Amino acid sequence: MIETKVYHISFHAAHNLSCLFFWGCNFSCKGCLRRAEPLDCHFPGIKSPKPFFPTFITLDEIITALKKAKPKIVVFEGWEPTFDPNLSEITKRLHYELGSWNYLLTNGYSLPELEEMDEVKVSIKAISSKIHQEYTGKSNKRVLENFQKLYQSKIKLSTETVFIPDLIDKEEIGKIAKFIASVDKEIPLRIDAYWPIFSKRWRASTGEEIREAVEEAKSYLINVSFLAGSEEVKGEVIKLV
Ligand code: SF4
Repeated sequence: MIETKVYHISFHAAHNLSCLFFWGCNFSCKGCLRRAEPLDCHFPGIKSPKPFFPTFITLDEIITALKKAKPKIVVFEGWEPTFDPNLSEITKRLHYELGSWNYLLTNGYSLPELEEMDEVKVSIKAISSKIHQEYTGKSNKRVLENFQKLYQSKIKLSTETVFIPDLIDKEEIGKIAKFIASVDKEIPLRIDAYWPIFSKRWRASTGEEIREAVEEAKSYLINVSFLAGSEEVKGEVIKLV
């Protein structure tokens, strides 16, 4: 029996994808959304109990839940999936038993065996080392090195970052975009609006600020998109576990 760090699974019918939520992280971001809401935040009206205590499920239980939903894409997210020592066992079983497209969302600090992963999105929080250290509690040196290694591995790669007013601002987003472009200007970057859910230390970002940050990033990169946080959830989102 293989234990995992997975405590929650959702299914997004409109996109035919499931999200596996892994518990634990090697960063301690001051504005972490997951600390405020451990469950998939796309559920209409579902809020997790406070305090929230995770119940971990085994690899067999993951496979059983996903075989019922039959998702085409499985997104590895949560907190930080690379925190799970059995990550490669999970990706292997999913490939062989479901034929899924395995898609990892990561902060990039750890780079485990990713042979059975099909796609990776790295969240680059900041380029300025002082900002990264203050916001996440860790240096970004390993993140930036791992990002280059991932690119060299030829895996399908994209990036995201969060616009946080007066912290990760237009100027910092420009630095992030410039770094990504130094690797390859065709690597996509998505800029997310900050939601002050866990920490009220920073206010919510405005649409105008996000648009300006997108324009700044576009001066370095070809593929820049954004999530304003007000997008409508398409189709049904179901809690599998
Ligand atoms: S890397 Fe993600 S999950 Fe980890 S603390 Fe930061 S925001 Fe939260």
